[in-house]
Amino acid sequence: MKRRVFSGARPTGRQHIGNYLGAIQNYVALQDEYDCIYCIVDIHALTSLEDTGELQRNIREMVLDWLAVGLDPGKSILFVQSQVPEVMELYTLLGMITPLSWLLRVPTFKEKVKLQPHNVNYGLVGYPVLMTADIVLYKAEVIPVGEDQLPHLELAREITRRFNSSFGDIFPEPEAKLTSFPLVLGLDGKSKMSKQAGNDIEIALSDKETVKRVMTALTDPARRYRNDPGHPDICNIYRLHGYFSPRQTDDIAARCRSAKIGCVDCKQLLAEAINIALKPIRERRAALATEPQYIADVLTDGARRARVIARKTLKEVKQKMGLI
Ligand code: SF4
Repeated sequence: MKRRVFSGARPTGRQHIGNYLGAIQNYVALQDEYDCIYCIVDIHALTSLEDTGELQRNIREMVLDWLAVGLDPGKSILFVQSQVPEVMELYTLLGMITPLSWLLRVPTFKEKVKLQPHNVNYGLVGYPVLMTADIVLYKAEVIPVGEDQLPHLELAREITRRFNSSFGDIFPEPEAKLTSFPLVLGLDGKSKMSKQAGNDIEIALSDKETVKRVMTALTDPARRYRNDPGHPDICNIYRLHGYFSPRQTDDIAARCRSAKIGCVDCKQLLAEAINIALKPIRERRAALATEPQYIADVLTDGARRARVIARKTLKEVKQKMGLI
């Protein structure tokens, strides 16, 4: 029997090439080896979302990108967190055995308090408990994470151990599958590519829009004139060439250092390489976008399959806890 993978992602809408090179490609690659459950964690999003008007649209756009890149609902379960309400029940039950001190020491909680001092809600403190419920509800054993998420997973493991030692072994202790997600910097060349930072390149852009977007990128600041020799090692356009035109990078580096290529031409080459790489994905996305009922059905069926597992686990939990 295949081991079970669980991963959740917030509904951030249209995905960008940072999401594509990191999480989504990895999701697709895991599908053959594992029994994969991929969840759009809309309840988690509520801890920091004050305006939920775009939530449904963001979910649809995100699913379109996931499916276009290659997530296969025939192989994986793909669903929206709130469509399986059992997770909220398990979240409450796990909350009863989780010491508050464990939650208050989580570094991301402290960061969130600084980021949104006007909205320090209960959900922010309980976030790791809900994350644990997400994982153990499906008895997932393998959790793909980047190094920065390891402390969260360690806390989920502690909560799991505590539950198992109090009520008997129900849950497998989730293991981290460390994935070296490339840290894709945004067009500002400084911070991680993100929609929030406004430095992203969406997968779904047209070829023309991609060129326009890439042209806004910052490059080597020392290269003020066309004849100035460049420093590709500090230029994010060069890094992006590494993902999209790896066979050209040596040539580009040499031509940049000797000022034989200008930044505009270099960006044009990158935009063309991105457009070539994303062409089949964009075509699939456009076709899927004409079938809103299919997208809705994928999510409904995913939630139905997830619920079968969730109900069984929750029943076991309640029995062990003496609730039934
Ligand atoms: Fe960067 Fe290319 Fe300009 Fe060199 S030529 S600084 S690699 S954009």
